[in-house]
Amino acid sequence: MRSPAAALDALRADPCGALLLRTFAAEHSVHLVGGAVRDLLLGRAPRELDLVVEGDVDAAAARLGGDITAHDRFGTARVQADECRFDLVRARAESYARPGALPDVRPAGLEEDLRRRDVTVNAIALGLDGELTAVEGALEDLRAGVLRVLHDASFVDDPTRVWRVARYAERLGFAVDGRTRELAAAADPSTVSGDRLGAELRLALREPDPSAALEAVRDLNPAYLPDGFEPRPRALAAALELLPADGRPDLVTLAACTAGMDVSTLLAWLDDMGFTASERDVVAASSRAATAAPLHAARTNAEIARAARGAPVEAVALAGGNNARRYIDELRHVRLEIGGDDLLAAGIAEGPEIGERLQRALDRKLDGEVSGRKEELAAALDGGDG
Ligand code: ATP
Repeated sequence: MRSPAAALDALRADPCGALLLRTFAAEHSVHLVGGAVRDLLLGRAPRELDLVVEGDVDAAAARLGGDITAHDRFGTARVQADECRFDLVRARAESYARPGALPDVRPAGLEEDLRRRDVTVNAIALGLDGELTAVEGALEDLRAGVLRVLHDASFVDDPTRVWRVARYAERLGFAVDGRTRELAAAADPSTVSGDRLGAELRLALREPDPSAALEAVRDLNPAYLPDGFEPRPRALAAALELLPADGRPDLVTLAACTAGMDVSTLLAWLDDMGFTASERDVVAASSRAATAAPLHAARTNAEIARAARGAPVEAVALAGGNNARRYIDELRHVRLEIGGDDLLAAGIAEGPEIGERLQRALDRKLDGEVSGRKEELAAALDGGDG
């Protein structure tokens, strides 16, 4: 583990960290906190720079010289200064009126602020003068790679913390302390809104290894995922390898895990988690095997295209195999040189027949039977038995 001085040096090497140090170097009331301190001490690059301020947050935010894009009545501010973003929070204590409620907040000192946090390794502050403040056991846990909640009611107060622990276990490769495991197993996600749980799920899907994060949460407490949710890391890895840049890896990941769920349960769960109707449709279509069988059985380019056409690209990627690859890499990009106007000009009446004729011509082009405008048009105007 790095020393606080080495952590500060690493911070200084980062342009946003350097700005922070220039602004607040001699200031005792502003501290870097949370994941950034944890990552700097571990020798990892920090993802976000979170600051805790003992005193006036707005004044501290103004000193950073950027746009203050968000603040609320609890004393938080987000500052965007050129490429750098900082989240500032007034040092605070939190209490929970009931399980899963949003916390009641009151101003407090740094040490109390650290005690409201989720796990010991996130409850470390690095003063910009180099002074380290941590809850008891935090540095030992960081050294040993252990995730430990700060008190027994932690998951009762805020059941979303189970998701947080799962993500850290996956990303940092840390072990979950035994007592924390017991508490996580007893946590009750039903006291939290679907939207909040959905936000945690979305963060897990953006992790470097989403399958591992999902496995980790299921391992901690199966109630965090619906019945029938089953990560399939190998199928997922193959699908992600096929997925083009315009596809959605998060939705492929969900689809790879939900093949065992019936569609109505799946759609209701995704709705509860705050996914939009079109996202729900992509997951549902991709988690079913409907695309896979005709796609695998296809023998010609036109058959491949017919099997894949209309399905989301995520479903094609999950179906997998050479035909899926061929469709994604080549066939889905093939276009006719003619369009509907050409058929109208040739006397075909407006209506669904135009689309059907164009489709037929495209299939023949895919199979290499026609090329160029003239042949495409002839194929489209052809009787329609092929
Ligand atoms: P990451 O490494 O995932 O970017 P992080 O550890 O910095 O994230 P954030 O979600 O950015 O976590 O939150 C910043 C800090 O705020 C955390 O490190 C933790 O100390 C505290 N925190 C955030 N959410 C909670 C929560 N639900 N309960 C308790 N403390 C929290």
